[in-house]
Amino acid sequence: MATVLDIAKRNPNAAPVAVSDAARAAGFIEKTAELTVAAGAAPGGASLVGLTRDQLKDSLSQIGVPERELKMRVAQLWHWIYFRGARDFAEMTNMGKELRTKLAAAYTLARPQVVSEQVSKDGTRKWLIRMASTGPLDKGAEIECVYIPEVDRGTLCVSSQVGCTLTCSFCHTGTQRLVRNLISAEIVAQLIVARDSIGDWPGATPPEGAFVPSDGGRFVSNIVFMGMGEPLYNTDNVVAAIDVMSDGEGLTLSRRRITVSTSGVVPQMERLGAEANTMLAISLHAVRDELRDELVPINRKYDIKQLLDACRAYPGLSNARRITFEYVMLKGVNDSDADARKLVQLLKGIPAKINLIPFNPWPGSKYECSDWERIERFSEIVFRAGYASPVRTPRGRDILAACGQLKSETEKLRARARMMAEQGIGAEGVYAVGIGE
Ligand code: SAH
Ligand code: SF4
Repeated sequence: MATVLDIAKRNPNAAPVAVSDAARAAGFIEKTAELTVAAGAAPGGASLVGLTRDQLKDSLSQIGVPERELKMRVAQLWHWIYFRGARDFAEMTNMGKELRTKLAAAYTLARPQVVSEQVSKDGTRKWLIRMASTGPLDKGAEIECVYIPEVDRGTLCVSSQVGCTLTCSFCHTGTQRLVRNLISAEIVAQLIVARDSIGDWPGATPPEGAFVPSDGGRFVSNIVFMGMGEPLYNTDNVVAAIDVMSDGEGLTLSRRRITVSTSGVVPQMERLGAEANTMLAISLHAVRDELRDELVPINRKYDIKQLLDACRAYPGLSNARRITFEYVMLKGVNDSDADARKLVQLLKGIPAKINLIPFNPWPGSKYECSDWERIERFSEIVFRAGYASPVRTPRGRDILAACGQLKSETEKLRARARMMAEQGIGAEGVYAVGIGE
């Protein structure tokens, strides 16, 4: 049991789980999150970075800032933390010295620790990030976050859980036993860490030779929730984090440039649209329930019909705001002409984009990626039916920067990375090229 997450606030009812094929076949769909935290709970450390306005207000109250000043003080802190990227209270010169001293005595502006940064030949960056410890038994959860620069946009792929509650059979994250929800501050902190590293604050400059968008916009212009975890099993924290990320006086990311990818947690989809108002991506991957039950086992709870009905009802859906359907290309499994035809038939009437993702293998995976000609043929059928069907170009292959493959156990990851590099296995390249506006 040594691999069980060492966290203090462990859910006492959560049993450690191993996900075997037998368990999957027996209908095993979900693992229990080891840590259940209230929406937007504050992190274990005393850092103010990543907090919501309400949390900042509480933090200020706790050090004796009078009620009548709270709103103004929150606005000031907000500006320094999220607009300027301040790392020291001393910079906050429009706040009195006494308050700055008090703040510095009680809190920090610490970021989660960057354990490693890898930069791909194509400019993709991957960070292994260790979150602040939540208690004496917690070494700090580790997650990965990937930055994919293009000429006209910079996309950050963020994680919403450590591991994943679900067990999709082609996804490496799904085999990870340990699961805990990230709190909203930890989700926001991924964006802060990225902006620190690529110099995306007023007055900062990117590191020498870094590839960043050259269109004069923000270096991180788009966010995709396509890292580790099922965002809609952690909706409270995901919605709270999106509120912070999209706030017009701070990080100012457009909600239309934030995409949440779900495997199909139907009951949460309406809420995501109504409260977060972001773009939606659906991990469809199969057009028949029998096969989807196997590939994306949550389908046994919410089948394809229920899922597509929820898509049709997604708030704000229009031709200008299409749903992206992700479809991983698995050789001989879901890649026939008939599958392609059924796919376009199923999506009829839904403003949609289809993203074909070449499957990227991982050690022990039982699938292979479809041949290139097959992917092209599939894409052609989809294209003729009127859908743009970009095949996602793998990014960051040389540094294993792949969404579906992310795992948090550092040592294992390093060992695997080495092994895969030696075997010449590339990353999954699940990246959001062309996603969002
Ligand atoms: N849990 C969410 C978001 C994270 S996964 C979801 O499933 O939608 C991001 C995307 O990567 C999903 O579409 C997922 O199905 C896909 N993916 C997972 N493993 C993969 C692999 N080995 N090769 C290609 N895509 C993969
Ligand atoms: Fe979880 Fe998504 Fe992987 Fe399925 S594909 S196991 S939902 S991360």
